Amino acid sequence: MATAAQVQIKPGKLFIGGKWVDSTTGKTFPTVNPATGEVITHLAEGDERDVDAAVRAASQAFESGPWAEMSAADRAKILWKIGDLIDKYNEEFGTLETLDNGKPIFESRQIDMPMVAEVFRYYAGWATKIHGETVPVRGPFLHYTLREPLGVVAAIVPWNFPLLLASWKVAPALATGNTVVLKPASWTPLTALRLAEVCQEAGLPDGVLNVITGPGSTMGKALVRHPAVAKVAITGETRTGQEILRDSADTLKRVTLELGGKSPNIVFADADLEAAVRGATIGIFYGKGEVCAAGSRLFVEKKIHDEFVEKLAARASKMQPGDPMDPKTRFGALVHEKQMKTVLGYIEKGKAEGAKLVAGGEATTVNGKGCYVKPTVFDGVRNDMTIAREEIFGPVLATIAFDDIEDAVRQANDTPYGLAAAVWTRDIAKAHRVARRIQAGTVWINTYNNYDPAAAFGGYKMSGYGRELSAHAMEHYTQVKSVWVNLKD
Ligand code: NAD
Repeated sequence: MATAAQVQIKPGKLFIGGKWVDSTTGKTFPTVNPATGEVITHLAEGDERDVDAAVRAASQAFESGPWAEMSAADRAKILWKIGDLIDKYNEEFGTLETLDNGKPIFESRQIDMPMVAEVFRYYAGWATKIHGETVPVRGPFLHYTLREPLGVVAAIVPWNFPLLLASWKVAPALATGNTVVLKPASWTPLTALRLAEVCQEAGLPDGVLNVITGPGSTMGKALVRHPAVAKVAITGETRTGQEILRDSADTLKRVTLELGGKSPNIVFADADLEAAVRGATIGIFYGKGEVCAAGSRLFVEKKIHDEFVEKLAARASKMQPGDPMDPKTRFGALVHEKQMKTVLGYIEKGKAEGAKLVAGGEATTVNGKGCYVKPTVFDGVRNDMTIAREEIFGPVLATIAFDDIEDAVRQANDTPYGLAAAVWTRDIAKAHRVARRIQAGTVWINTYNNYDPAAAFGGYKMSGYGRELSAHAMEHYTQVKSVWVNLKD
């Protein structure tokens, strides 16, 4: 079994201009292992002066020096190397992520970190393929476009997939020639700081990636308001996204928002029921339900409802939370005591509003400690109940019965969110028809929770806008310049 002793965890500093520095105030804050309640280490708590220093370092690296002059091919080599180093240090990165977040080491090492490496290599491939075009304009002119980077990008990430969601922003930002100030979530900053070391080892010039730690409400806010930041890429709660949009209005920043979700997972009576039960389980309990795209509203056609819910409840009841550092564990600790209380509060609300608890529904411990909530399934939920409206961000499933396609589509779309959805049926035409009618940025058919660097991801409605991953992401890190050349003698 992996242990904390296998990685060296030093007290964190801020990484600014290629150097490790203390925060201006000298203040620190702890990061805690949610599986044990132990403090892992202390981090530097930055304020607006540290933000200013990081943004200045990033501005300088953008405007002059090796990065500004570097060819796309050389940028690509560095990105590829970062990906390879993430693979090389997989064990260490995985351990840090699990200690900080409580997710099973299986997920950190075998799913998150390999995808981080893939994301860097995917965008390494794009770096040399970003080009403008020549345009046939009227008159004796040559007209062409340049696709240029924006400048300093603020990458603000949440705690559920700390390094993975950082890579979704940092890799396309660097591939297109921007510089970055990365702010991890305060509950999970360790892998972002280690990424800074790896980028330096890969040859990324000083100031191109800066990593600062501190509260979102003050330091994150100062970063968003900083006039020298050209773009903010944020993954977080919908209300954080709203605040960031307001704060970036004065300086008219480009903003892309990956926000919350309440994704419908729709099971028709003609589905492969065993596969759909597995899919519903993975859809909500993977990542302890702390997944933006979690299939947290399960719609089951009335004809199969009783049989389906019975199978699902049996499966959920068998899933035991375990020590996240144990490679056999598939369900870990929630990220923080505060998050656990929030989740338990929603479970109480579900009961109070009349939903029927058929699995889980309570906190538990592993080895007598930790922030664990048992995989929880509610049946008899109505789509207007709180547990079907609000993002719980924990292992709580709301099961809702439906009559037919019309009813399923109407209820599935009756939500302010639109991040993801899934449809389970053996009728392929029906699957595609429903996929078209669902208002969500991703629809899975007979599967759940698939991601790939080449597949765009992002929201409809209040789940945000802009796309991460794929070629689409690069549109959000570049701008087009029109160049006119007079060809007259
Ligand atoms: P959060 O909104 O509390 O914090 C996200 C990040 O924003 C953190 O780094 C935080 O410090 C920072 N922040 C907070 N207030 C800020 C402000 N005013 N200005 C600048 N920065 C600020 O979210 P969280 O609790 O860390 O993460 C969970 C949320 O993230 C959930 O709502 C989840 O759905 C969402 N999420 C979305 C996606 C997606 O791709 N759509 C993926 C993962 C998580």
